[in-house]
Amino acid sequence: MKMTTLGHAPIGHVVTSTLQGIRNRVVADDRSGSVADYIPELSLANPDWCAVALVSVEGHPYVAGDAAQPLTLQSISKPFVYALALADLGLERVASRVGSEPSGEAFNAISLEPGTGRPANPMINAGAMMATSLVRASNAAERFERIRQCLSAFAGHSLSVDEAVFASEMETGDRNRALAYLMRSAGALQGSVNECVEVYFRQCAVSVTTRDLAVMAATLANGGVNPVTGIDVVGDRIAGHVLSVMATCGMYDFSGEWLLQVGLPAKSGVSGGIIAVSPGQFGIGVFGPRLDRHGNSVRGTNMLRELSSRFDLHLMHRSPQSGPVVYRATTAAASPSHRTRPGEERDALQTDAGRIAILAAQGEIEFAAAERLLWTIEHSLEARPEGRALRPQPEAQWLVLDLRRVTRLHPAATHMLDAHLTHLLAHDVFIAIVQPDERLLLPAAGEFDNCDDAVAWCEDALLVARR
Ligand code: GLN
Repeated sequence: MKMTTLGHAPIGHVVTSTLQGIRNRVVADDRSGSVADYIPELSLANPDWCAVALVSVEGHPYVAGDAAQPLTLQSISKPFVYALALADLGLERVASRVGSEPSGEAFNAISLEPGTGRPANPMINAGAMMATSLVRASNAAERFERIRQCLSAFAGHSLSVDEAVFASEMETGDRNRALAYLMRSAGALQGSVNECVEVYFRQCAVSVTTRDLAVMAATLANGGVNPVTGIDVVGDRIAGHVLSVMATCGMYDFSGEWLLQVGLPAKSGVSGGIIAVSPGQFGIGVFGPRLDRHGNSVRGTNMLRELSSRFDLHLMHRSPQSGPVVYRATTAAASPSHRTRPGEERDALQTDAGRIAILAAQGEIEFAAAERLLWTIEHSLEARPEGRALRPQPEAQWLVLDLRRVTRLHPAATHMLDAHLTHLLAHDVFIAIVQPDERLLLPAAGEFDNCDDAVAWCEDALLVARR
């Protein structure tokens, strides 16, 4: 008999066919917007190119359409160069030179702080040129090479400049030059305007594919670690910082509406690319050269809007964690050790088994799961054997906390459990923790590697307490 193998193909097919459907729909329905021509070379793009790519934080890629068609990064370079400046100088020193407030203005607006000339944020051109100038180097060539290497690390392979696009913007980029001169005259920009602008135009002209965009976005989604190469490019603190600025400023004067409609940090470029990031889950790249009046890809925006709703990616639409943190809540009445005890002990335990609560928790426990776990502990300690109103003296209770299936305790959860268990121990609740190798350090009266031993230990103690 022939067996069907379940490899990558069927999983890939499910996701890819959704991407394909979304892409085909915008290709059929949407021809609005126009290709950028203020950089003449960009106007040569085929307006019908259309691609979407998604890469998971495990590095699995899914693509549809013209995902291998080269495009230049343009403004999509900005969050990555900002990340490099942050890595070089630290959050505070960068913040003193470029803000993180949405400007509510176009990408090429003169949005500088009165008096200081400090640009509003690093996602508009003025702030991006400032970030470029902050990248540590002794000369312009070295600065660009460091930027190119950083962008390459985000993409997972060596990237190069589209010289024609670079030359085209060098020839026509007077508005950016003017912006740089304004910043310099206010004392905000240090060093040579020509060098700064040239390095900035080069980073904008770095050539990528839509698939590269998705890997770069996935690196931000994955705490700064490229999920394909495994290389830690900027670390999770900087990745988180960059994502926050993308969320508020990445789509220029459409950023608020974008957060409503798509709900993901994103960055667009005038060549028609957009990256969007679902933190901890996916990086997405889309491409379509026709732009709306904000300079954002029309098809790209539509594809991301649909992707976000189809895959339920909106950051503010988080439903409560699906699996329960406590998968078993019972008392020692159900314990096997109890049933094998001699008659007198069994009778005693039968009456009092409710004083031994048994809880088993599972999964990755972060703040919200820890909060639920603490409530369950509280409720289980209040549990009484049926039909009994009063507990015998002394009032001691026992809690068996089975943590064998807990995969990770986040620092906030560790802190909460630590404080609560300490409190319980001080109030006559004896805690027996079940876990192999004592891998989680929590306060307890006893540590066991299986549940039966923990329950038997509590029962012995209960029998002693009854005497
Ligand atoms: N190189 C372009 C410029 O500075 C980038 C702008 C953009 O992509 N929005 O005008």
